[in-house]
Amino acid sequence: MTVSLSSDRAVREAYETDASGLHLVPELVARPGSIAEVIELLQLAAADRMPITCAGAQTSTTAASITDKGVLLSLRSLDRISAIDEGARTITVGAGALVGDIKKMAAASGLLFAPDPTSEEESTIGGAIACNASGARTFKYGATRKHVQRLKVALASGELAEFRRTNLEKNTVGYAFAHDPIDWFIGSEGTLGIIVEAELALLPLPAHVVGLAIFFQTEADALRFVAETRESRILDPRCIEYFDDQAINIARAATSGGIMPDGAVAMVYVEQEIHDDLDSTLGKWGDVIESFASDFEPLVFDGEARLREARKLRHSVPSTMNERGGKYRAAGGRKVSTDWAVPYGRLAEAIRIARALAAERGIDQSVIYGHAGNGHPHQNFIARDTQELNTIEEVIEQTLKQVIALGGTVAAEHGIGKIKRKWLPLQMNPLQIAMMTAVKKELDPLGILAPGNIL
Ligand SMILES: Cc1cc2nc3c(=O)[nH]c(=O)nc-3n(C[C@H](O)[C@H](O)[C@H](O)COP(=O)(O)OP(=O)(O)OC[C@H]3O[C@@H](n4cnc5c(N)ncnc54)[C@H](O)[C@@H]3O)c2cc1C
Repeated sequence: MTVSLSSDRAVREAYETDASGLHLVPELVARPGSIAEVIELLQLAAADRMPITCAGAQTSTTAASITDKGVLLSLRSLDRISAIDEGARTITVGAGALVGDIKKMAAASGLLFAPDPTSEEESTIGGAIACNASGARTFKYGATRKHVQRLKVALASGELAEFRRTNLEKNTVGYAFAHDPIDWFIGSEGTLGIIVEAELALLPLPAHVVGLAIFFQTEADALRFVAETRESRILDPRCIEYFDDQAINIARAATSGGIMPDGAVAMVYVEQEIHDDLDSTLGKWGDVIESFASDFEPLVFDGEARLREARKLRHSVPSTMNERGGKYRAAGGRKVSTDWAVPYGRLAEAIRIARALAAERGIDQSVIYGHAGNGHPHQNFIARDTQELNTIEEVIEQTLKQVIALGGTVAAEHGIGKIKRKWLPLQMNPLQIAMMTAVKKELDPLGILAPGNIL
C-alpha cells in the first residue's frame, strides 16, 4: 500500500474542526497525492468497512467535513490546475485546487469561472462541487452545478468513473433524476463518491464591473430597494447583497479608512457589468437610489482593486462571526449560522418573522446579511453557552417551519451536513428521503462514505 494513514494525535487534531464550530477528531488521516492512492484507499476501506469522510479546506459551516468515525481523507494535495482550453472555454482541475486560484488562472486568459463563494480564497473546488456552493454572483450566473461539465469520481466500490454533462436540449428517456448522473454527485456532500477531478465551464471575463454600496435609514426601505432592483427591466446587476445594521458595524470595523457612513441602518451592495458608458449606467442606478431619498451618498467601487476591497468587506461578516463564536467554545457555545431562503418576493416578510421569533425568546444577537437578490439571507447568531445554543436552535427550527410555509428551503448553499440533518424532514417528505436513501444504498452499499452527512 502506498497511501499512508496517520494515527498521530497532532495530525488527527489538525483536521478536527471546520467552520461549524464543532470538533470531531478522526481515527485516522489520509493525505493522498494521486488519484491512484485515493482508489487504493477506497478499496482498503471497502474491504475493512472503514468509513471515509472527504475534506477539502474544511470551511463547511455544517460539520460536513469533520468526523470521529474512521478516516478523514484530505484532498488538498490533488491541486493541479491544468491548462485552459480557450476554444472550448473549459479548465480541468484537481479536487484540491482552491477556487480563488482557478479564478485567477481563468482571468489571466480573459475568462471567468463564475461561482464565487465568499470563502473562495480558502476553499477547494471539490468542496464547492460537493456542496453546490454559490455566492453573491450566483444571482446572475447560477450556482456551481451549472458550471461543471465533467467529473472524475472515485466510487465506494473502488472504481474510477467519469460523468460528462449531456447538454441535451430535449430528452424524454426515463425518470428526470436519472438523466444526468453528474448531478447526483454535485451537492452530495461526500456521501456518494469522491470527486478527484473536474472540468469546469468558463465565461468571457467582463471588461468593466462597478460595485455600489447603497445605504438606507430603514431595513424596510433596503428590502424594498432589493425587490425594485430585481424587478427592474433597466438595471442588470450581477449581485444584490444585503447588510443589516450589525453587519454594517462589522464591515466598518474591518475598514481602516472608515468608509462606511455613521447612522446607516441597512446597506445593499450591487455589482453591475458596464457594457456601454459608465456615467449613463451610474445615472440609471442614481435615479432609482434617489427615489428612496436616503441621506447617505452611495459608495462606488470601480476597478479590480476596489472590487477586491468590497469583497473583503463582505467576507469580514462571516469570518468575524466565526471568530466571535469561537470564544464561547469552552462554555458549549458557538456561532450558529442559518442558510434558509425564500422566493425573493417573500424576503421582507421572512426577515420580519425571523427577527420576531428570535426577539420573543430574548435572542438579540443575530446578524442578517447576504444574498438578498436570491431571497437568501444568512441569519447568524452567537450562542454564549449550551443553554443559549439550545434556545437558538429552537428559534431556528420555528423560523424554518415558517420559511417552508413561505415556499422556501432550509439550506440554499451550505448543504445539510451533520448539523442540519434534523431539519431535512421539514422540507422533504418520507418518499423523497426514501428515494435519496435508495440512491445512497446503490452507490455506497456498505455506507462507508461520509457517515452522518445528509441522511
Ligand atoms: C467565511 C466563510 C464564508 C463562506 N461563504 C460561502 C458562500 O458565499 N457560499 C457558499 O456556498 N458557501 C460558503 N461558505 C461555506 C463553504 O466555504 C463552502 O461550502 C465551500 O465550498 C466548502 O469548500 P471546502 O473546500 O472548505 O470543503 P469542506 O468544508 O472541506 O467540505 C465540504 C463538503 O464537501 C465534501 N467534500 C470536500 N471535498 C470533496 C471531494 N473532493 N469529493 C467529495 N466530497 C468532498 C466534504 O465531505 C463536505 O461534505 C463559507 C464559509 C466560510 C467559513
